[in-house]
Amino acid sequence: MAKSGAGQGLIVSFGEMLIDFVPTVSGVSLAEAPGFLKAPGGAPANVAIAITRLGGKAAFVGKLGDDEFGQMLAGILKENKVCTEGINFDKGARTALAFVTLRNDGEREFMFYRNPSADMLLKPEELNLNLIKSAKIFHYGSISLIVEPCRSAHMKAMEEAKKAGAFLSYDPNLRLPLWPSAQYAKEQILSIWNKADLIKVSDNELEFLTGSSKIDDESAMSLWHPNLKLLLITLGDKGCKYYAKNFKGSVPGFSVKAVDTTGAGDSFVGSLLAKIVDDLSIIQDEAKLREVLKYACACGAITTTKKGAIPALPNHSEVLEVLKTGAK
Ligand code: ADP
Repeated sequence: MAKSGAGQGLIVSFGEMLIDFVPTVSGVSLAEAPGFLKAPGGAPANVAIAITRLGGKAAFVGKLGDDEFGQMLAGILKENKVCTEGINFDKGARTALAFVTLRNDGEREFMFYRNPSADMLLKPEELNLNLIKSAKIFHYGSISLIVEPCRSAHMKAMEEAKKAGAFLSYDPNLRLPLWPSAQYAKEQILSIWNKADLIKVSDNELEFLTGSSKIDDESAMSLWHPNLKLLLITLGDKGCKYYAKNFKGSVPGFSVKAVDTTGAGDSFVGSLLAKIVDDLSIIQDEAKLREVLKYACACGAITTTKKGAIPALPNHSEVLEVLKTGAK
């Protein structure tokens, strides 16, 4: 087996883990779907597994239902060597479910079962603070900001991690149907903007947050804040753009036969964090950062070549193969 592609510092990923129900055939509406397959998901959980698959160290912090699906998800994390000491189980609420359609144009549509689901009920006092404080990088999204008490748990975890010296990584992962309104989503996503050291948004999220349809430097830089070290805009098959304090640029994507883009962004972020966790100065060095982003783009590309997120997350040898041949 190839050497690990990852650093050994702990990355704690905070937020939701749920089950996606994916139609057995693609290109149909939820009502037309003849059946559904279970696929574990939730961006922060995908990120944690992306890291361990490459040989890195990750923990997931969040709440699951004390039901068969919750136990199944915790089991998947354990099988993938993700530390589960930060997971709580709710006796009353169920593990979240999402029904996801893959339309003929490759875009996804979601229908969520969260009324409320266990992940929304994580309380600040339930946090495993020792685990959170031992993180070199603390990573999170925005779904955990939607309702209380999870929002307060998110804020506390983020603040404790920061106080203990962690580097904060933020991937908003916009899921508009989960928010009461688009305006509220924007306000809340931006309410924690200035805390993050690293922010990754997709081209669609950039458009949503800036209100501009242009994916250019001006629009990206309108999201810059003084404490930010690195802003990344992912562009699907076109790779990504990067903005640091002293340089900016872009890295092309890899050409692959994409069958399902679920998890591409999580794979991109997880691999990036795994690569920088032991030496955060990499992001201040353009040549080194470009190497890392090339690796992350390869990870994102590979993840699109198989159905589902977690089964498609690559190991280090698979990434090396794509980096060598340029395609898969
Ligand atoms: P998100 O999943 O957050 O929407 P993207 O779809 O932009 O993020 O994907 C993240 C990264 O994965 C991209 O920057 C790119 O490197 C890679 N990627 C995504 N889709 C493809 C694709 N169709 N072909 C090749 N690489 C892709």
